[in-house]
Amino acid sequence: MATNSPNRTVRSIAIVGGGLGGLSAAAHLVSSGHKITIFETDSHLGGKSSQFTSGGYTIDAGPSVLTMLPIIDTIFAALGEKTSEHLDLVKLDTLYKANFASGNDPYGEGSLSVRANHDDMVAEIRSVAGAKDADAFVRFSKYLKDLYDAEFNQFIDRNFDSLFDFLAPISPTLKLLKLGAFKKLNSIVSSYFSDERLVKLFSFQSLYAGVSPFEALGIYAVITYMDTIAGVYFPKGGMAQLPIAIGKVLADKGVAIRTKTKVTSILRSNGMSGSVTGVQLEDGSRESFDVVISNAEAAITYKQLLGQSSPPRKIARSEYSPSALLMLMGTKSRPTAEVAHHNIFFGDSWKDAFVELIDEGRQMTNASTLVTIPSFSDPQLAKDNGAALYCLEPVPNLGGKIDWKNQRQNAVENFKASLRSAKILSDDPSDIEVEKIIDPLDWKAMGMEMGTPFSISHRFFQSGPFRPANNDKRVPGLFFASASTTPGVGVPMVLVSGRLAAERVRTYLGDR
Ligand SMILES: Cc1cc2nc3c(=O)[nH]c(=O)nc-3n(C[C@H](O)[C@H](O)[C@H](O)COP(=O)(O)OP(=O)(O)OC[C@H]3O[C@@H](n4cnc5c(N)ncnc54)[C@H](O)[C@@H]3O)c2cc1C
Repeated sequence: MATNSPNRTVRSIAIVGGGLGGLSAAAHLVSSGHKITIFETDSHLGGKSSQFTSGGYTIDAGPSVLTMLPIIDTIFAALGEKTSEHLDLVKLDTLYKANFASGNDPYGEGSLSVRANHDDMVAEIRSVAGAKDADAFVRFSKYLKDLYDAEFNQFIDRNFDSLFDFLAPISPTLKLLKLGAFKKLNSIVSSYFSDERLVKLFSFQSLYAGVSPFEALGIYAVITYMDTIAGVYFPKGGMAQLPIAIGKVLADKGVAIRTKTKVTSILRSNGMSGSVTGVQLEDGSRESFDVVISNAEAAITYKQLLGQSSPPRKIARSEYSPSALLMLMGTKSRPTAEVAHHNIFFGDSWKDAFVELIDEGRQMTNASTLVTIPSFSDPQLAKDNGAALYCLEPVPNLGGKIDWKNQRQNAVENFKASLRSAKILSDDPSDIEVEKIIDPLDWKAMGMEMGTPFSISHRFFQSGPFRPANNDKRVPGLFFASASTTPGVGVPMVLVSGRLAAERVRTYLGDR
């Protein structure tokens, strides 16, 4: 048997899925010297971070807001490389343009640009909301940084073997308590700002975690920190350049990447029990591995790959996040409104909208939406004078009350009408040259549980030590790296999940 050091045996590791979680796990294991193979069903790496390319337009079809550059740096650093050598990153300034509706007027309550530089942001708030709220932002941004510092190592960037791990060491948990991190997010943000628009701007991010700001705890303000303070980036060529770049370096470092290769089951020593011994592929062939890391959703891994009817209770009983209606459009003309790369349109109903979306499973009456224009930062992504548009409306997952087969067209037309009144789309329907629409049934058809790309929600009892674990003691040698396990959803979290899975693997193989 080959060894990479005098004392260490080279083992074989299969990673099922070349999404960002799987790629991160591979990156963090390369230096171990073990033999790594990534199996990916699709023809491309990146999973949800994919692209729609048609008629001269290239539009990301998954994540669009790239935050937490230091976490991306850790991936390339684990591979002995620098991010800047592999990605041409644009630092966005404006991070977001937030527009506040009044009735049917999308700009009726004004707009505000979230600026990259602290002093610029203070000045922007002063001009839009007055001196008192500008001063409040100075205190609020310090609060967010303190919260992030207390939370990241204790609650996000670590493996949990029991609830007690969350409490030990106790000092960061006490710090979180002192910071009020277990109070409701909306009330924390409201305690800083008197302007309701700022309360919306600094609390809506909990929706990324599938939770209303009225239900979310203050700990979720770390997403606000990532989103509004720590910087937002865009890789030239689109977000999908991130998995492409990681994949290229992995291949250079000897990782075997087998796209268009579906794993149909994870093999175990005693058939349905015992430790993992390998994987079976769609063509029926079997390959031996010492370790398997599943980057497929945990629920899908149990249902489809383990043939095991009893996933852990945490997985079987999970609640899923709302989903998204995504419209990707290549248009001959550019928006005539004043836009930024990312534009949020806040509908004028707020608390009720979350009740409709999350509690009642209905479409929001006055939906808040995200319009990202990748061609704003990289004109090559659209035809000359045209635009690449990414328009996302949060909608209930398939547990909700919408019959997408019958209601899809209506939902699409309403969304387009709102984009016309916001001067994002032209009034001429033929201005749209190419389009792709993805609704919850489409997400489901792509293999996403409950028809949502945002996986298990982050309500408190599905977060940190309460989130489905990245190992299962009943299945030695199997580990999980994806949004459905710790620490959770979103590009930064999923990249961390790969690191945490790699840490488990090294311990399992006796590397540390
Ligand atoms: C529309 C949308 C908007 C988003 N917006 C943002 C955002 O702005 N910012 C942000 O940070 N995050 C965002 N996210 C979330 C983020 O994209 C995801 O949390 C993250 O990409 C999930 O990565 P993953 O590795 O867990 O899973 P995936 O990307 O789903 O990867 C799993 C991979 O496993 C493969 N696979 C599954 N089963 C098998 C099998 N049996 N054999 C072989 N291969 C298999 C799949 O094909 C897939 O490639 C968004 C997601 C979507 C879809």
